[in-house]
Amino acid sequence: MKSEITCKDCVDLLMDYIDHSLDPGTYSRLDDHLHSCPPCIHFLKSYRKCSELSGQLKDQRVQIPLELENRLKGFLKAEIAKPEPPASKH
Ligand SMILES: [Zn+2]
Repeated sequence: MKSEITCKDCVDLLMDYIDHSLDPGTYSRLDDHLHSCPPCIHFLKSYRKCSELSGQLKDQRVQIPLELENRLKGFLKAEIAKPEPPASKH
């Protein structure tokens, strides 16, 4: 069963990705996607930074404020929704 990871999946899976609680197959597919998708890398970095800032609770799943999570998701959705740059005309 193969399914492509999309940017939308990325948003949903990112928490588990950081947590290392994804199954290996999903993890590597998401990893592939992240390496080829700048907006998602940006999202991941923002998310990680946020997790670090959230505290040093090693044994606890890091919770980021819902408002910030929504802002990050909004940012990513805006990136995804951007139209393709117009082809150069001569
Ligand atoms: Zn993406």
